[in-house]
Amino acid sequence: MNKRIYLSSPTMHGEEMKYIEEAFATNWVAPLGKNVDEFEREVAAYLGVGHGAALVSGTAALHMAVKWFGVTQGDIVFCTDLTFAATVNPVSYEGGRQVFIDSEPGTWNMCPLALKAAFQKHPHPKAVIVVHLYGVPARIDEIKEICSEYNVPLIEDAAESMGALFQGRQTGTFGDVSILSFNGNKIITTSGGGMLLSDDPLAVEKARFWATQSREAFPYYQHEEIGYNYRMSNIVAGIGRGQLRHLDEHISKKKLIYEKYREAFVDLPIKMNPYHEDSEPIFWLSCMTIDAGYKVTPADIAGELAKVNVEARPIWKPLHLQPVFADRDFVTVAENPITDDIFARGICLPSDIKMTDEEMNMIINMVRRLFV
Ligand SMILES: *Cc1c(COP(=O)(O)O)cnc(C)c1O
Repeated sequence: MNKRIYLSSPTMHGEEMKYIEEAFATNWVAPLGKNVDEFEREVAAYLGVGHGAALVSGTAALHMAVKWFGVTQGDIVFCTDLTFAATVNPVSYEGGRQVFIDSEPGTWNMCPLALKAAFQKHPHPKAVIVVHLYGVPARIDEIKEICSEYNVPLIEDAAESMGALFQGRQTGTFGDVSILSFNGNKIITTSGGGMLLSDDPLAVEKARFWATQSREAFPYYQHEEIGYNYRMSNIVAGIGRGQLRHLDEHISKKKLIYEKYREAFVDLPIKMNPYHEDSEPIFWLSCMTIDAGYKVTPADIAGELAKVNVEARPIWKPLHLQPVFADRDFVTVAENPITDDIFARGICLPSDIKMTDEEMNMIINMVRRLFV
């Protein structure tokens, strides 16, 4: 059996160790310390956003964002439908209710028209959470404009899109609060981790406060709010500092993988995941759909690749189809939901940046053989 090829696995460079060793040498293993401060500063500078709070996960960052905008029992939050459940679970942590918004076919992300329709139906949501799926920017300009029009805060989940641009501007800088993830499979990783980002220093300060058990500035332990243990450790932040220096290189490799698939499948009844012409995706995962009515299924492709120990996975199952959210509303302007269709015909292809040309050729040939 050949060695397993993953959808996306950590790629380490050795430079991460320099920062970890520095933390050991100064005994800043915990708590917090220079790596955390520097990682926050460096990530915020890379994106061009005011401030960042390094946390244990992207999910924790989303939780703090949802809390910052005051989501509480019974509040409605408009959410991207086609995404990982982590995007929307924090709404439930605070007792809020998700309303899922359908995608548009041009980016697979939140449809601005469906978002507008949702405002007609539920005029007072507490926030909107938008995702840039698989590293492809959403129509964030229109979405931001709609949010401004209704005076509702925008939370931008850039967990899969660090480094992607929309109209020349970094994703993660559009939201009133934005989040990143440094989970093991993301474009850069700290093993596990996340960051909350904002131009509003008060939002970031408050996230840091809640994330360190809501300790008030007293000589003894004084608590006036419920707190969390959500802060990133100084060791973990050291991994992040080393990784950040290789982000652009990771992105270039992801783009090459997408291009190679695109060229290899151009004559087949296959479409690669689409993007807006004014955006520069990072293609965290290369995905494709099989043209409607064609006999090959995504499961056929995954099954074929599994035979040679290669990982391929279905597109995220739309959240409005998840049993746990069965009672939530879903808003679409399409005759048949776009997200259902992408889920039915789509698949995520192996997109690991450590794949060799030989390995990619093998994968491409196996997929091609199913179609000819
Ligand atoms: C990975 C991911 C998250 C969650 O990040 P964690 O660091 O794993 O908690 C949130 N949203 C999206 C879209 C993700 O892909």
